[in-house]
Amino acid sequence: MKLWVTDLDNTLCDTDMLEGDENKIGELELFPDAAKVFKVLVAQSVPIVVLTKGDFVYQRSKIHQIGLTEVIDNMYVAESDAEKVIYFKKILEEYGTSVEEVVMIGDRRDSEVALGKEFGAKTIWFRHGKYNEEGEAPEGVHAVESYEEVLELIPEL
Ligand SMILES: [Mg+2]
Repeated sequence: MKLWVTDLDNTLCDTDMLEGDENKIGELELFPDAAKVFKVLVAQSVPIVVLTKGDFVYQRSKIHQIGLTEVIDNMYVAESDAEKVIYFKKILEEYGTSVEEVVMIGDRRDSEVALGKEFGAKTIWFRHGKYNEEGEAPEGVHAVESYEEVLELIPEL
């Protein structure tokens, strides 16, 4: 593993609880044990890149609130799923990483996880929130429900 690409909403913190109310942003907390995972990645010199969709300032505020501003290497904020694909390719180029060495983690099986899988990245489906109450993990996709499980997965990624 040479590069960690992560979704933001419902992957780094529970943004469902915001219910669209920006005033609640101060209540966001990084998911338990995620900091442990990032510590391991930083120790292994694996850059952490956020690939998300939405408003840049809003997404950056969330990252700041959960204490990751100094932890992440970069953040790409797409306006659409199509733009997410473009950014993913751009990230591969900018880091000069072959896609097999990239881990893509997200809560949406049919969005970022499918995207990562399509390109041949290692994929983790973080089963949290409204999109994840049912459904099977596609072949080759690691399905987890906590960062404790992510931590256990790291040696095989
Ligand atoms: Mg998400």
